[in-house]
Amino acid sequence: MNQNQSKALYEQAVQYIPGGVNSPVRAFKGVGGNPLFFKGGEGAYLIDADNNRYVDYVGAWGPLILGHSHQKVIAAIETQLQTGIGYGASTEAEVKFAKKICNLVHSIEQVRLVTSGTEATMSAIRLARGYTQRDIVVKFEGCYHGHVDGLLVKAGSGALTLGEPDSMGVPKAYTDLTHVLPYNDVTAVEEFFAVHGSEVACVIVEPVAGNMNCVLPIPEFLESLREQCTLHGAVLIFDEVMTGFRVALGGAQSIFGVLPDLTTLGKVIGGGLPIGAFGGRKEIMEKIAPIGAVYQAGTLSGSPLAVAAGIAMLEIVSETNFYTELSAKTETLLTGLEERATAAGIPFTTNQLGGMFGCFFSDEEKVSMFSQVMASNMGHFQSYFHTMLQNGVYIAPSAFEAGFISAAHGDEEITTTLDAAEQAFSAIN
Ligand SMILES: *Cc1c(COP(=O)(O)O)cnc(C)c1O
Repeated sequence: MNQNQSKALYEQAVQYIPGGVNSPVRAFKGVGGNPLFFKGGEGAYLIDADNNRYVDYVGAWGPLILGHSHQKVIAAIETQLQTGIGYGASTEAEVKFAKKICNLVHSIEQVRLVTSGTEATMSAIRLARGYTQRDIVVKFEGCYHGHVDGLLVKAGSGALTLGEPDSMGVPKAYTDLTHVLPYNDVTAVEEFFAVHGSEVACVIVEPVAGNMNCVLPIPEFLESLREQCTLHGAVLIFDEVMTGFRVALGGAQSIFGVLPDLTTLGKVIGGGLPIGAFGGRKEIMEKIAPIGAVYQAGTLSGSPLAVAAGIAMLEIVSETNFYTELSAKTETLLTGLEERATAAGIPFTTNQLGGMFGCFFSDEEKVSMFSQVMASNMGHFQSYFHTMLQNGVYIAPSAFEAGFISAAHGDEEITTTLDAAEQAFSAIN
């Protein structure tokens, strides 16, 4: 496959953009080689600068649950575009959008829109601290909550790929109040709360971890977080920036039946345009400015274009069986991958929920701990990644990223993927 144009663009890019990319996860540091440059997307496919087509499992890192260039989303954006790009003031559409989010996500009574997932988590934490008048934040190893200073401690995905789960430039004083516990370790949570419970402002967690590949919560984990937060008066924040409208219509909280006090959203809710949101119990949300003393603001917040795309997207994913069909596709894909790995004698296991999944080159039967993710075979992943790419399948260039499927993926794309995987598994041998 000829990827010369991407290579040429990358050589120019590194001169003007640090590392040639505008977000580190786009670089190929975890797999080697240069990143591809894309010029189009159609349904389940990405088209690169050399006109190669790839079945896409990155989906713009999560948002594109309807696939690329969905006509209804484009029409909604176009209609808004003709009326106005932004007003920096209130609109009827943002009320409609907020109402819809409140109706669909059970724990959200009020919601505020922001421009990215990072802003959503940053604001939710400030709010939790303001509400509880406490300082300590608890997060989990391998979870990523955006590039907020105080949360770049043992963070996942991009940070893990670069081998820098803690960032330079973050003063130690900024992270002194952040405590990191192992994901899926109920005992560690109970022990921490037994000592520090009365000082904890909030616990922030990805209810399904999607930034250390894809790791599902063990059944007692989220329940124990709910229990401890309630017992000690701390705010429980589910960071559903990735899982919201990705694993189910009501987010991960609707599947596991554990309701957080605050939820952060992003990715899917913008239909591909920049957006984020945080919401939850009215009593807590009313502490935000202008009615409360916790300050939070944004010039582009509630961008009419992003809201229009978001409403169109929410209408489509609300259709009957949308998530049942999406889950069934994920299941077909992963069963097929596991069968081919077994046939080739490659240790391999998968996790999935709704439209997100994880593949691990691991001897474990199921991967549920951060340490197991870290122990998976990176060499196998690198080889697999490059063979998949050469055979027209684009997966995230890192063993620490979750995979995403869209409604546009069909039998044909899954077959292409499984054929490529057969080649990729045998090339490992
Ligand atoms: C992507 C992500 C974020 C950050 O969102 P941005 O829009 O990239 O700032 C936060 N939390 C989780 C769980 C994410 O997956």
